[in-house]
Amino acid sequence: MSHRRVCYFDNNATTRVAPEVVEAMLPFLRDQWGNPSSAYRFGHQVAKHVATARERVAALLHAEPREIVFTSCGTESNNTAIHSALAAHPAKRHVITSAVEHSANMNYGKFLKEQGFQVTFIPVDADGLIDIHRVEKAIRPDTAIVSIMWANNETGIIFPIEELAAICRSKGVLFHTDAVQAPGKISLDARGTGVDMLSLSAHKLNAPKGIGCLYVKKHTRFHPYLIGGHQEHGRRGGTENVPYIVGFGVAAEMALSRLHHENTFVRALRDRLETQIFKLIPNVIRNGAKEPRLPNTSNLSFLMVEAEAILTQLDHVGICASSGSACTTGSLEPSHVLTAMGISAARARGSVRFSLGAETTAAEVAFLLEQLPPMIEKLRGASVQSGTAPSKSRSKEPGRLSPRSAAA
Ligand SMILES: *Cc1c(COP(=O)(O)O)cnc(C)c1O
Repeated sequence: MSHRRVCYFDNNATTRVAPEVVEAMLPFLRDQWGNPSSAYRFGHQVAKHVATARERVAALLHAEPREIVFTSCGTESNNTAIHSALAAHPAKRHVITSAVEHSANMNYGKFLKEQGFQVTFIPVDADGLIDIHRVEKAIRPDTAIVSIMWANNETGIIFPIEELAAICRSKGVLFHTDAVQAPGKISLDARGTGVDMLSLSAHKLNAPKGIGCLYVKKHTRFHPYLIGGHQEHGRRGGTENVPYIVGFGVAAEMALSRLHHENTFVRALRDRLETQIFKLIPNVIRNGAKEPRLPNTSNLSFLMVEAEAILTQLDHVGICASSGSACTTGSLEPSHVLTAMGISAARARGSVRFSLGAETTAAEVAFLLEQLPPMIEKLRGASVQSGTAPSKSRSKEPGRLSPRSAAA
């Protein structure tokens, strides 16, 4: 299937690399392939572009360039933040995170427990919101770090990062936030909010997969996760991924200038999609509060239907969406995020996440709204009629529903 025909509603999973980003990267794959740490000019010249990219990423976060450590991904950034806090404060063996983090934090937390550390997973309420007082009460003298995401990738719920950072500061505990879902959607002020560390991943903001960064506030005690050369001022070993860093810099600039579009045009499209689905399809429930929420994300449960069946039908007509996070898709377990919100397994299994992007068009939303209601109706009919074997009757229906003219 040609990428041009794909009707893409899965921008929280990954995003298209912007053409401007590809163009900016190419010279560093073709001609300027020197090592930025080398002593000769062929290397120096490359180092200048890495410095520019660092300034651009810092500007996105209202941070200083020297506070940016480039990493290989959001996962590495999250793992590094927690690892660093524990390594820098060996007497402290307790970590606080939330029950709705990305698997990067959930599974690192489980690993730490196996290693003999103590980890508290702060619960959320039925709306997916966190009670800051619970976080405050969970902090102990031996807490090394609190790591709570800025915005949830499945529900889009935005957490009160400034308040959380203030609580941690008053208790003398490091605060890290996974802000991977935030850039371009909400404004990010690392310095203003007072976080100690913050993670980004470039492939969530129209740059390639495999590059990210960790903001580390100046004067923060830091221990590298990758121990090697003196790159990143000794904070991350490994020769810099120059083309990707350059691409990340350009994408960071673009994300900053996209904030208005995301909060007007994209938000209006998302709201229209949601209102129309509620109007056209019975028994649909939003998972998570309406606000505070990312402007691009809609997580809906279609009762009495399996999300996997909906996604298969959507895929037949070239529409990409997901059930929860890409990391949980494929496992039969209901999403840990929805489970933490007290949502039943049956309702969670019918949940589909639509995440719009800067390139989403009104025509694509109209196409989705045209395709979805009859699909849900059919699937519900099939599961009622065929009782035990709904999947068989489903697989007999190839998705020749209508031409994909609107999906441009
Ligand atoms: C995608 C994502 C990550 C992981 O980023 P990678 O670069 O894929 O490792 C971490 N946290 C959140 C909230 C994400 O959405």
